[in-house]
Parts: sequence; structure tokens; C-alpha cells
Amino acid sequence: MQTDKGMSADVVELRAALLGWYGENARDLPWRRTRDAYVVWVSEVMLQQTRVAAVVEYFGRFMREFPTLEALAEAEEERVLAQWSGLGYYRRARMMHKAARMIVAEFGGRMPETAAELRALPGVGEYTAAAVASISHGEAVPVVDGNVERVLLRLCGPQLAEAGGNGKPAVGALRTAAQRFLDSQRPGEFNQAMMELGATVCLPRNPQCGECPVRTHCSTQGEHETGPAKQMRSRQVAYVLMQRNWGPKTEVLLRRRGEDESQMPGMWELPAAPEGGLPDESVVLTVRHAITNTNYYVTIYELPWEEKRTLKAPRGSLQWVKLRELGEVPLTGLTRKVLKRTKILPGTAKGALA
Ligand code: SF4
Repeated sequence: MQTDKGMSADVVELRAALLGWYGENARDLPWRRTRDAYVVWVSEVMLQQTRVAAVVEYFGRFMREFPTLEALAEAEEERVLAQWSGLGYYRRARMMHKAARMIVAEFGGRMPETAAELRALPGVGEYTAAAVASISHGEAVPVVDGNVERVLLRLCGPQLAEAGGNGKPAVGALRTAAQRFLDSQRPGEFNQAMMELGATVCLPRNPQCGECPVRTHCSTQGEHETGPAKQMRSRQVAYVLMQRNWGPKTEVLLRRRGEDESQMPGMWELPAAPEGGLPDESVVLTVRHAITNTNYYVTIYELPWEEKRTLKAPRGSLQWVKLRELGEVPLTGLTRKVLKRTKILPGTAKGALA
């Protein structure tokens, strides 16, 4: 455990300023109303590479469906993926489900408490382990996510930014800096305060230094390289929307992705349009869909159900799914978006990464 003995007055002041600011400015997010390790774990997994606003909606629904670790462990994987549908990065959900089953089978349903023990669970990396251990159990381990890394680099300046050589920070140096700043008496709050500062004040391209509670301790105060904007690639893709039987018996044709497909195995999506294209008059929707660094420009054609025979898909992968059962199917984010935009599913598509 780190002690505060011998710590410089500067660091002590920084901690007090940051924690005071966090106490007054922390966003009221549903997972912050408890220190329950299962709840914290679910929220931290969802928050990886996904915007807070998108997670808020999914988190509530997921917790209603799986209110306890046991409920998650008992569920079929397809049901877990269905609740995750639209959040993207589905491996996160699969690994969390696997870990929940392991906790029930090997630890009697009690989550490990230390960061080292948590890291032994499937899919739990250094970041998630540190977040759960510090927030739920008060272990003095620093969390270093993308937001915290940016804050540390700006607070410490060029010395830390170039510690790894080639003008890059070294992972070890970042962790050492994070551990030095960490308040060992209130590690959970301190970690959350650092993440909150990065998410709301020390922004990637436009840091709000005038509002920053630790600006007097900051080496750079906005005078730093912001790095190039993310380069997005573009891809054109096309899918087919087919429905049959009207009224309460309406069904939509979907394709289940193979278990051996590298992306989103086992998820359900609209069938791909035949190569060579379809007549423009069949277009019912065009939509842009971003996945990591690719913008997909998507064309959706609507065809009569009898045209199913023209579609190319692996044998047995196409299936008619009843409208009332769509909520239980793990749809890809794009398919969910299309079905919402075409009013086949209720609600409007949220801008989650998927
Ligand atoms: S002063 Fe500016 S650059 Fe420094 S930590 Fe605060 S917001 Fe970031």
C-alpha cells in the first residue's frame, strides 16, 4: 500500500483540489449510486470504447434483465448478446458472461476483491480490475484509461510524454505517475475523479484549462500537441430488407453470422444484397454507420419475400424471425439501427458505437 508519508505538498494539494472538484461536479450516473462490485464491473465493461450517453440506456436495461451476477451466469449467451445488441464490441459481453459463470462455479458466486485476483477472470484487463478493486473495495491501485493517460501526460509534461523513447510515453512511467498521484485513502473516488476530469474538462482537442481544478499543478496548461484527428476509412455496403405475413404474424428475414466469422460471430443481421446491385427504386434507406475507424455508407433495398432465392448466404443461415421475437435476438448494431429507422422496431436509433 502506498503511504502519504513524505509526499510532496504539491501532490497533496492536487489530490484535495481534484477530489473537491469531483465532489461538486461528478455527473450523476446510475452506476455511481452504489459500490456493488457486480454493478461497477458491468458499467466499466460497457464504458470501454463506448460513450457514456449510450451506456446509460443500455446499462439500465441490462441490469433489469440481469440484476445479479447469478442471473447473468444462468442466462443463455444469446440472451446476453441480445441485451448487448447495439453496444458493439460483443466480445466484451461474451467474456463477461464467461467470467460470471466462472465466479459462480469456482468462487461460489462471490466476486474476487483484489485487482490481482480480478485479472485472472476471462476478459478482465488491468484497467477493469483496477477500477472494480479501487471503487468497490478501496484498494489503492490506479486506473489508467485513455482519459487518465491524457491528463497525466499534460500534468507531467514532456518528461513523461517522452519516457518510452520515440517521443512516446512508457507504460511503466505512466503507471508510476498515476500511483504517485493516487490518494490511497480514497482511491476509488480519486480514480473516478481523474477519469471525469479527462472526460469533461481535459478534453482531447480542446482542454478547458480555465475551469480545471488542477491547473496550478499542470506543466502544460493547454500548451501541448493535440495529435492528428482520427483518420476514418469509408466503405459502401448494401443489405436487403424482406418481410412476409402482415399484421401480428409479420416476419423479417435475417442471417445468423457464422461462429467462425472473425467479427460479431453468432450475431443476426440483414442479408447482404446480391453482388451487382439492385434497382434504385428498391432503395428504402441510406444510412451512415461508424464502427471504430470506418464509416460504412449503407444502402438498404426492400424486396418481396419471394426474392429470397436470389440471395447468397451459407446454407441454413437465413431465417424468418417474428417481429415480436426481435427483442430477444442478438442483432448487430447496424441491423438494429435499420429496423428502428424503418419503424419495424420501436424507438429511434441511438448513436452507440456498434
Ligand atoms: S490545466 Fe488544462 S491541460 Fe492541464 S490538466 Fe487541466 S485541463 Fe488538462
